[in-house]
Amino acid sequence: MRYMPEPFKIKMVEPIRMTTREEREGFIRDAYYNAFALSADNVYIDLQTDSGTGAMSDAQWSSMMRGDESYSGGRSYYRLLEAGKEIFGYDYIQPVHQGRAAEKVLFPLLVTPGQYVISNMFFDTTRAHVGLAGGRAIDCVCPEGLDSGAYYDFKGNMDVPRLEALIAEHGAENVAAIVMTITNNSVGGQPVSMANMRETARVAREHGIVVVIDAARYAENAYFIKEREPEFADATPLEITREMFSYGDVFTMSAKKDALVNMGGLLAVREDAELTEAIKTRVISFEGYLTYGGLSGRDLEALTTGLYEGLDHDYLRYRVGQMQYLADRLTAYGIPFQNPVGGHAVFVDAGKMLPHIPYDQFPGQALVVELYLEAGIRTCDIGSYLMDRDPETGAQLRAPFEFTRLAVPRRVYTQAHLDVVADALAAVQERAASVKGYQITWEPKVLRHFTSHLKPVD
Ligand SMILES: *Cc1c(COP(=O)(O)O)cnc(C)c1O
Repeated sequence: MRYMPEPFKIKMVEPIRMTTREEREGFIRDAYYNAFALSADNVYIDLQTDSGTGAMSDAQWSSMMRGDESYSGGRSYYRLLEAGKEIFGYDYIQPVHQGRAAEKVLFPLLVTPGQYVISNMFFDTTRAHVGLAGGRAIDCVCPEGLDSGAYYDFKGNMDVPRLEALIAEHGAENVAAIVMTITNNSVGGQPVSMANMRETARVAREHGIVVVIDAARYAENAYFIKEREPEFADATPLEITREMFSYGDVFTMSAKKDALVNMGGLLAVREDAELTEAIKTRVISFEGYLTYGGLSGRDLEALTTGLYEGLDHDYLRYRVGQMQYLADRLTAYGIPFQNPVGGHAVFVDAGKMLPHIPYDQFPGQALVVELYLEAGIRTCDIGSYLMDRDPETGAQLRAPFEFTRLAVPRRVYTQAHLDVVADALAAVQERAASVKGYQITWEPKVLRHFTSHLKPVD
């Protein structure tokens, strides 16, 4: 069990508040046992998401001073274009305000209503934008990705034989695009191998289908390829990234993850002039003029600097190392989780940890509440509470897993913070039998997990 030391030192600090258990009991009750309704000031360690919650470097902050705020043709935009060519090998790169904005611009251009879009697993906003464009989203992850206890190097992979079968079944002309999500967020930040990206691209090219890379965690994926695919042991994360992106035609990216900024996104095209023109037309109506795309010039500077910093080998070793350290501590305590850990989060198997709580009393959410009560740690449910109801019958759907996700912000927390998290989980495990399930007392019609009210079941 080894903690990979930070390849940085701390220049600025943000105080966080330690509360008492009694105070937390009041705060979570007032939030109707929904962690989204907590005031962040009352959270000690916030593992709700790794999206937009990272710390920028001194280089990023100082590059912001170089931001060119010209309405059009600003030099910050040209710097981003150059980075797009150098890192990804793509001709055109369009800044947008965040990842879902890229999806909103792109999918209606690719999808004719009724067509299918197949992915190794859609992230929720990507799935939603395929649906809004009239497409039908199909998840096609390899079977190993759904086996939480078993070790497998690349649990995020596309199930290529099934992909070929789906294309044969529906006809290539009815498949609008193939979306490769790297890393595969929805199965736990699990990586996709280069071999799998190659195979998927081969199938797509054989049938003339566009490959879209959903690239939020491009750098973490490159690092896993370096560590786990012998062919790439001596390659740099940048070299690996270039090859990964050669297997796509277009990419969308939330820059709030591996690009190490708090807000921003990208939409890029490798070499399709017609698609590029169509994208430009839509960007101007939704995001703003092409050379800023809904961001300030200074944001573009921080983003471009972040694209390179995210690929630094020592940073990635520390980053993934943090996740592995936390996983090792949980293993020592006998706490079950999606194994091996992915790049941005540990998915604790709350279904196994709290086996007496049925799925419709939300074990993942029960663990969210307990971790907050125990140590002021905020996490989120990735289970039946998130899964929602059957839109037709209103019955509670059962998720394939009952996970509680511990997402770790980039360059924010130290080893001692992770120790607090591991010890809190162990304390909850000790009193697991007395932890109660939850029921919903009020819920909105869509995306209920953000705003529902809950109460413990007696
Ligand atoms: C975060 C994320 C998105 C959406 O990006 P936002 O910046 O939150 O709009 C899309 N795909 C994946 C894989 C993501 O992780």
